[in-house]
Amino acid sequence: MFRKNESIFDKINRYLTKKGHELVMSVFLSDFNNHDIYIRFDYVGKLSVYKIVWVDLKFIDEKHLEDYINQQIVTKYVALQIVDKILEINKESSYKIDPDIKGDRVEMILYRGEEVREFVFNRFLPIDWDFLIDPLALVFSYLPRSMEVFLNEIFAIFDGTKEKYNSLKPVKFDLMSGDDDGIFRSQAILQGTKCYEDDRVEFLEKVDDHYLAIVEGAVQYLVNIKDYGDGYLFLWCNCRSDYYCKHIYATILAIRDKKFKPFYKVVYKGKDETLLDKVMTGKYFLCFGIEGDKLLLITAESMIFKADILVDNKCVFEVIEDDDDYSLSKALDRYK
Ligand SMILES: [Zn+2]
Repeated sequence: MFRKNESIFDKINRYLTKKGHELVMSVFLSDFNNHDIYIRFDYVGKLSVYKIVWVDLKFIDEKHLEDYINQQIVTKYVALQIVDKILEINKESSYKIDPDIKGDRVEMILYRGEEVREFVFNRFLPIDWDFLIDPLALVFSYLPRSMEVFLNEIFAIFDGTKEKYNSLKPVKFDLMSGDDDGIFRSQAILQGTKCYEDDRVEFLEKVDDHYLAIVEGAVQYLVNIKDYGDGYLFLWCNCRSDYYCKHIYATILAIRDKKFKPFYKVVYKGKDETLLDKVMTGKYFLCFGIEGDKLLLITAESMIFKADILVDNKCVFEVIEDDDDYSLSKALDRYK
């Protein structure tokens, strides 16, 4: 039968209903870490068992649903625990959406006979919704280990790790006049200001929709600030701090003061058919100096890459943009 405008959820539901599944609880992770994962806790009456069902909607062929729907029988003991926990919940449907969070939406629907309760939040389970911890944890214990990352993030407020997850995601923030206290710790603001005033933002350039910066600290840190649209920014630093760090803050101050310092640009001139050659031929790289016998480059993915300057005793890089003192060209001349 042809059904126009039937959603993927309707299709999955129709398929499972045909197999005798009754929906007891569903969890939809929508645009969560770029995944769309639909999880169900079902009762299958004709077999007298409960099952966990999960589907990754980003990887599904609607014509062959059966190949993409994963199922796992839940032991009776655990199943009854989940059912008990669901029956204990006396809170009405509730929605807690933080407008500063982009995506990462969690929609939980509980079915108790005719009665349906819905709990919707984004990224983090709210602190006063602890009644959802057990049902979630029990259901996730039947999912592949790789999905634990979602659960850890959902429980981050309870574990005190919220800041760590937020700092890995786009955040609503006005680069030019944002409320710095809203996302930066006072320590990061203090140290970042000092960092900026001490001239430690060594390079800063806008490349397409990114700001890339090198900030000197214990080592040279790469900061990447990317515009995600709709007022969201992705603020990243390779120091891997658990919160927005002083290097990012120093970079923001430099951007606000328009203290741009372009990177050196180099092209790869190697002729050998190495992988490096294939990847690099014909385009230039941002470069921020030399370390030992290696050139410090930034890849198109905004990662630091240390490339051998010499191949078979020949310098394989040519400078196409230098600073006013020709610092990089002079340094490279020593290798020629
Ligand atoms: Zn940092």
